[in-house]
Amino acid sequence: MSDADLAIVGAGAAGLMAAIQAGRAAPGARIVALDGARTLGAKILVAGGGRCNVTHHQVGPDDFAGSTRPAIAKVLRELPVPATVGFFRELGVELKREATGKLFPVTDRARTVLDALVGAARAAGVELRFPFRVVGIERRASGFRLQGDRGELGARRVVLAAGGQALPKSGSDGAGVALARSLGHEPTAAIFPALVPLLVSPGHWLASLAGVAVPARVEVRSATGKGLALFRGDLLCTHFGLSGPVVLDASRHFLAARLEEPRSRFVVALLPGATPESLEAEIAALGRRGSRTLGGWLAGKLPDRLAEALLAHAGLEASATAVRLARGSRRALIETLTALEIPIAGDRGFAHAEATAGGIPLDQVRLATMESRRCPGLHLCGELLDVDGRIGGFNFQWAWASGAVAGRGAARALTIPRHGGG
Ligand SMILES: Cc1cc2nc3c(=O)[nH]c(=O)nc-3n(C[C@H](O)[C@H](O)[C@H](O)COP(=O)(O)OP(=O)(O)OC[C@H]3O[C@@H](n4cnc5c(N)ncnc54)[C@H](O)[C@@H]3O)c2cc1C
Repeated sequence: MSDADLAIVGAGAAGLMAAIQAGRAAPGARIVALDGARTLGAKILVAGGGRCNVTHHQVGPDDFAGSTRPAIAKVLRELPVPATVGFFRELGVELKREATGKLFPVTDRARTVLDALVGAARAAGVELRFPFRVVGIERRASGFRLQGDRGELGARRVVLAAGGQALPKSGSDGAGVALARSLGHEPTAAIFPALVPLLVSPGHWLASLAGVAVPARVEVRSATGKGLALFRGDLLCTHFGLSGPVVLDASRHFLAARLEEPRSRFVVALLPGATPESLEAEIAALGRRGSRTLGGWLAGKLPDRLAEALLAHAGLEASATAVRLARGSRRALIETLTALEIPIAGDRGFAHAEATAGGIPLDQVRLATMESRRCPGLHLCGELLDVDGRIGGFNFQWAWASGAVAGRGAARALTIPRHGGG
């Protein structure tokens, strides 16, 4: 006999949602959610700078990368944003929408979200067991045998919600992929950080501008210059290189492009509203007017330190004027302002990433239940799968939606035994 009808491995965002939905859909079923961490919900607590960006007011498949858009859309449809908002409202967590479209709890405290989820899981009859790290899962004729660092457990079905690899000290260190692999799954060829700050080579002039933040446009280009992906948002210079929402959003696309072609380019427009033509006209007008320096002109558009560094990069003195500016210098300046190619030396790694690119592809699960096509009785959800969202609450929305589908799917498949106890 199994110790549990359903074991959920990982009680993060996706696992807690799966637990709540399974408990509600199968009252009386013995459901245990296991987590290796000493305290639950580390990522929920740090998310959104401690405020937890629970979701976004508009979420669609284009906000994600990884598996195919139709597959992602099918899962997202099972828990649309209004249903997420309603779910949290029913738990007593009212969400507010900020100007960016991001939704946060009105309390501005991530703790409100975590406490509500943990309370709802318990109220749905789920046992939360932690710390209990699962180190192996074996498929048996009648279900599964889970080996943990604190004992063993039998379960008729399993939901694997062990997360990706971002912020490994939170307990999500890639063990989920290894467990899925041991049960017959094949992860994507590459698993790499997403939403991660990028490094420039040590000593690069950008690193001396730490603290400067500007709106920018970032384009990932192929080695031949073809535009592959375009992002807009704030860019932040740091002592190691680049961060800020636009860089984080672009990072996985750049890293993916570079895996394919090492000479892929990271190109930044620091005057995102300008075009080469508009700047050409502006500089020509500046030249006709005479005395204003290029430094003074650019400092009206960008922070002083950045303006100076960009002029130097273009080989110009801040004190130079646009009068009789050589054609080559004008071109260099315009290119620096609209298409600055930044040599990226690497990324800051999973320890500084907010998400994971790659994982178990969605074509290895049945999307209506998130049940494995390779291992009947196993359901998968959350960041473990090959789906990663942009900044703004999209990764949690994926965790809530895929967790809900997995939890309901697992519960529907349980034939509740007669003892009925919780
Ligand atoms: C710093 C930071 C800030 C973020 N901010 C936001 C935000 O504001 N909005 C947003 O949408 N997304 C945000 N994210 C992303 C979001 O947190 C994740 O995408 C989401 O938590 C993934 O949910 P999950 O349940 O799949 O994985 P996780 O939340 O990582 O949960 C997995 C759980 O499984 C447990 N586990 C792992 N292996 C085992 C094992 N072998 N046995 C037992 N338990 C195990 C872990 O301890 C963990 O509790 C942020 C991420 C980081 C790192």
